[in-house]
Amino acid sequence: MIYADNAATTRISENVIQAMNNVMIQEYGNPSSPHQIGAKAKKIVENARTNIAKYIGATTNEIYFTSGGTESVNWAIKGTAFASGKTGKKHIIATAIEHLAVLRSLDSLQPFGYEITLLSPDEKGIVDPKELERALRQETGLVSMMYANNEIGVIQPIQECGDICRRNKIPFHTDAVQAMGQLPIEMNSLPVDLLSFSGHKIHGPKGIGILYIRNGIAIEPLLDGGTQERRRRAGTENVEAIAGLDVAVRDAVKGRVRRTKHLAALQKQFMDGLRQLEGSHIHGDLHYRLPGNVNVRFDHTNGGAGASGESLVLMLDKKGICCSTGSACSSGAMEPSYVLLALGIPTDQALGAIRFSFSEDNTKEDIDEILKALAASLKKLRNTPDTASACCCGPDGCC
Ligand code: PLP
Repeated sequence: MIYADNAATTRISENVIQAMNNVMIQEYGNPSSPHQIGAKAKKIVENARTNIAKYIGATTNEIYFTSGGTESVNWAIKGTAFASGKTGKKHIIATAIEHLAVLRSLDSLQPFGYEITLLSPDEKGIVDPKELERALRQETGLVSMMYANNEIGVIQPIQECGDICRRNKIPFHTDAVQAMGQLPIEMNSLPVDLLSFSGHKIHGPKGIGILYIRNGIAIEPLLDGGTQERRRRAGTENVEAIAGLDVAVRDAVKGRVRRTKHLAALQKQFMDGLRQLEGSHIHGDLHYRLPGNVNVRFDHTNGGAGASGESLVLMLDKKGICCSTGSACSSGAMEPSYVLLALGIPTDQALGAIRFSFSEDNTKEDIDEILKALAASLKKLRNTPDTASACCCGPDGCC
């Protein structure tokens, strides 16, 4: 088996499993309980908070535990929008290629009178900071821009955009779910006020994430109930997942330079090999992109629509290679990725996209295998009509 779908989720690491096992077996208390067992659980949560703050250059009270990237993003957007809405600021800017957690959160605000501006990227997937500057209004209460895109891996100019927001005193949120572990995240130098990330994208557990909230940023809670997370996010803490996340963030940050070097070498080897395959087009900027991501399509050399991404993913799966498409299944038909459409890629070509996303577990031999399997699958597809394949994505859309 070759797993090349690390942007969807990653294998949980041995270090993380060990940390979580210890907590599950020995520290089963509720951190809110007034006794010794509860106090031990609380200590695990607070130690993790302090450690994670250190790993990302934050202060301890700026770290909030959530149930994952989706909740962090929902809270950052809705919580900040509700707070800024109280002062009449009901305009929000984001990019058109944000994850659905961002785009659907924004949709949910519209019935409450919020106006949304979505910035379009260029054909390489990058948003121009000047576009952001032009979109700002007196009543802009939040800007949200992802650090790196989950489908095409393209990195946004968050430093420049954060500086613009800072000059204009507008809170700036960054979805760093895909960036953590591959890009530097130093909150003492990044001009970012709210930052979301998730455990399962960095070899940690699923169902746990972080929302970093810079001190002084106004945000409303979304979950009501107990007084956990300094009264800002109710609910008993997921102690074992928090212990696992502590280790996952440590390893993600400490191993970043070594990891990105390894991933960049694999990426180069893969892209060089892809260029030898007829009709290949790599999507997104080649320089400003995550080293672990390659998103590609294969056009027909005679002009028509090329190999469908769904067919290729299914054929590779049969050969023991796991990767994904950006397409989503809607009422039994394949819908092209809105990210690729936003780059100006026509629908028939966007339907050809497949995404490979690598981790440190992948090897040079994996890349050779994938290239061989791709060449064989393309040959087969091109010799037989590419009948529309069954949907191979789940009902929940992209990840
Ligand atoms: N944001 C981005 C960029 C993602 O890639 C994902 C997950 O695929 C999310 C948010 C949601 O994270 P989670 O799966 O932890 O809810």
